[in-house]
Amino acid sequence: MNFQKNDVVVVEIEDIGNDGEGIGKADGFTLFVKDAVVGDTVEARIVKVRKNYAYARLEKVIKPSPFRVEAKCAYHRQCGGCQLQTLSYEKQLEFKEKKIRDSLIRIGGFEPEYVDAHMEPIVGMEEPFRYRNKAQYPVGTDKNDKVVTGFYAGRTHSIIANTDCWLGVEENQEILDCILEYMRENRISAYDEASGTGLVRHILIRKGFSSGEIMVCLVVNKRMAHVQHAGKRSGPDYLPKQKVLVEKLARIKGMTSVSVSINTEKTNVIMGKEIHTLWGRDTISDTIHVRDMTQPGYPFTGKGLTFCISPLSFYQVNPGQTEKLYSLALEYAGLTGKETVWDLYCGIGTISLFLAGSARKVYGVEIVPQAIADARENARRNGIENAEFFVGKAEEVLGDFYEGNDTEAKPDVIVVDPPRKGCDGACLEAMLRVRPERIVYVSCDPATLARDLRVLCDGGYAVERIRGTDMFGMTVHTETVVLMSRVKS
Ligand code: SAH
Repeated sequence: MNFQKNDVVVVEIEDIGNDGEGIGKADGFTLFVKDAVVGDTVEARIVKVRKNYAYARLEKVIKPSPFRVEAKCAYHRQCGGCQLQTLSYEKQLEFKEKKIRDSLIRIGGFEPEYVDAHMEPIVGMEEPFRYRNKAQYPVGTDKNDKVVTGFYAGRTHSIIANTDCWLGVEENQEILDCILEYMRENRISAYDEASGTGLVRHILIRKGFSSGEIMVCLVVNKRMAHVQHAGKRSGPDYLPKQKVLVEKLARIKGMTSVSVSINTEKTNVIMGKEIHTLWGRDTISDTIHVRDMTQPGYPFTGKGLTFCISPLSFYQVNPGQTEKLYSLALEYAGLTGKETVWDLYCGIGTISLFLAGSARKVYGVEIVPQAIADARENARRNGIENAEFFVGKAEEVLGDFYEGNDTEAKPDVIVVDPPRKGCDGACLEAMLRVRPERIVYVSCDPATLARDLRVLCDGGYAVERIRGTDMFGMTVHTETVVLMSRVKS
């Protein structure tokens, strides 16, 4: 049968696509239906036809799926940030496990029995909302020229007003409303992307979950002229009526740092490099604990590491699950205190410092110099002396070490946590040359994970344990930890 654009069809949704869309068949023709849930029978309108499949829009749910739940957020369809909000959380976890399994089979070429024999149950969240410690809200104007903040609609650049995203902390709303009120009362303009004019571009909010400390940073498009204040206080202002805003924000419970970031570039990059603290401290702190992942409820083992976070620092956005993810990586590393461990793609050294407590020596490698400066500072702050950090490409630093033949630094265990594109081919080659006993692979993309595991297995390693950890509930993002061990010496 030939479908055409705007045709309305009834379809039973049988599967979930990689981007969370529902997949069903009508007369043998595959339909991808955004916002439909697996198990639904829906009426869908075709929006784009391809040779063997078509994209369709959900018009009406005829028979709801038993896995369909009511969305918490009224804007979930327009926003697109939460692709899975109408799917029950148990089913979301199942979807992620299946995504990992399918990638390993299809892309990695592993036998289903082999994958099943090594896969452990995914680690979910206790509460899959309000888990993000960081929010970045764009500021703009609505149709009536009123200053608003919210989210970009779909893939556009128009802002839909909403100050309460369910993934963020409750305080976000109070802070955003406070800033909007200050802007409206003092006629402070919002940045306009098209013309590059207007002042306030974005609002960044971060919260240390364990400390309760909150940081607000306003990204502004202009450096104001130096304002000399009469009386005691003197110094530059970065915002008109800065004092009014600061006083409002300082009253909010937990407020620890208020700053501005100057970004005058016409770019999609949110933060500018220059940061000025207007009130309070320059950073907030957060502590993450090692947990015992072998016990029910994953109790703390008592140890905690404290990190300082500035507006520009990289820091995992879901601290609750980060503890579980790192603890799992630590457990998989199987350390006894004697090992030399390399942590490649180490960021600000969070995993490295977790490992350092149980290893002889840890070497961290990361490409961003500022992250390594933070890693060294974090080591110092936590009194960790057996971690050393290098700026550079993982593949080059590890390769150089091998050429140099430094036996002292020979890795017993290598941990990798690469970005979505996975490990560079040269990095995998370098790992196979130095031949650690164990490799722990932390991955945020099952497809590149599967590709890389295949290379490592062909190079003499075997998969021992695989476990998903849900870092991003309500979204399709899938995180996995894998333990591999050397089979050929
Ligand atoms: N393990 C850290 C960070 C993981 S994110 C954490 O859990 O916080 C991946 C990191 O890899 C980023 O910090 C990125 O800057 C870094 N990176 C990207 N390409 C790299 C490369 N070729 N070599 C080393 N680090 C790289």
